Amino acid sequence: QTKIADVVRRIRPSVIRDMALRAEKLDHVISLGIGEPDFHTAPEISRLALQDAESGYTHYTPSKGYGDLVEALCEYLNRYFGHGVSPEQIAVTSGGMGALTAYFRVVLNPGDEVLVPEPYFPSYRPQIEWAGGQLVPVPTSFEQGFVLTPEAVERAITTRTKVLMINSPHNPTGLITPPEILDDLARLAEEKDLLVLSDEVYDRLVFDGRRHDSIFHRPGMRERTTVLGSFSKSFAMTGWRLGYAFGPEWLIKEMVKVLAHYTSCPPSVSQRAGLAALRQDASLVDAMAAEFQTRRDLLYEKLCHFPGVKIHKPTGAFYAFPNLEAITDNTEQFALDLLYEEQVVVIPGGAFGASGQKCVRMAFTVDCDRLTEALDRFSRFITKQM
Ligand code: PLP
Repeated sequence: QTKIADVVRRIRPSVIRDMALRAEKLDHVISLGIGEPDFHTAPEISRLALQDAESGYTHYTPSKGYGDLVEALCEYLNRYFGHGVSPEQIAVTSGGMGALTAYFRVVLNPGDEVLVPEPYFPSYRPQIEWAGGQLVPVPTSFEQGFVLTPEAVERAITTRTKVLMINSPHNPTGLITPPEILDDLARLAEEKDLLVLSDEVYDRLVFDGRRHDSIFHRPGMRERTTVLGSFSKSFAMTGWRLGYAFGPEWLIKEMVKVLAHYTSCPPSVSQRAGLAALRQDASLVDAMAAEFQTRRDLLYEKLCHFPGVKIHKPTGAFYAFPNLEAITDNTEQFALDLLYEEQVVVIPGGAFGASGQKCVRMAFTVDCDRLTEALDRFSRFITKQM
């Protein structure tokens, strides 16, 4: 169809969605493909939001979100993470996605380059491209634990480089960027005068007693770093479409200008749910994170002992990204065969721009019994392959 814009024609169909559509037609499928908590939103959150809807919170809101939500979010970000931001530095958005869209609109001129560690969340590319920018992948490797090295970033910098992206905890690898690497990346961003966009939507899902760490806290970074956050993963609220960004006041102000013409405002009822989520007992989120850690342990222990599988222990989010190069050199075909023979969904690494890596993403977003069953099937399948 010639009337479709080039930038849209270039968007490749989503591999994750394709796997989900195939899986829908089969019975007894266990999906490790889905990047969202299997937990429902806490009933208290939904109840308060619906009550507020009944009492009239059904209108347009300020473009950057209700004042009381922005205040509560500000208090939460400062108390929980020590971010030290003011309400003027925060905008509430329609999901983390809404923040991504507004951010790239604000900073990118045609041809500006955004450095993105590869593998990466598949929506980054279209988001960057339809704002006129270019995604420049910065390779990472399984051997180096998918760490974004400052050397690789430096090699990718050109005169058009505008933004360095970071995503920690990371989708699809479930790994956290080490603190000393954040130090080095911050120094490099300052030296090369780059803006930094740090996607931290998995900030509450970190394991083994870690505290979430952010490049925002490095010297000089507050002036150039925008952080992307979300209620989706932390509070099991994916369907409410509520996220946020915080960063330099001048940049957030421009984002709010864009948001006013993009979505007008985030959904009113969802904002009331967000407020309820911030006011709820923190132990609910901690309990969910603890459950993900239990599943991480189960998955890691088993996968470690499977022949031909190499894996780094995930330290956050709810993903593992095992390497299967000893088993297959075509992870797309592997994932399809696994689905049709054993009814288990995993996502081939190519979906995240890392087809050379021979990895697959496994989301531990099913309970331990189903995870065990999925891994038993996986084990049976790879034994047949070897
Ligand atoms: N960033 C990353 C790394 C993600 O994995 C996701 C969702 O999967 C998002 C951003 C967007 O999340 P949402 O729009 O639900 O806040």
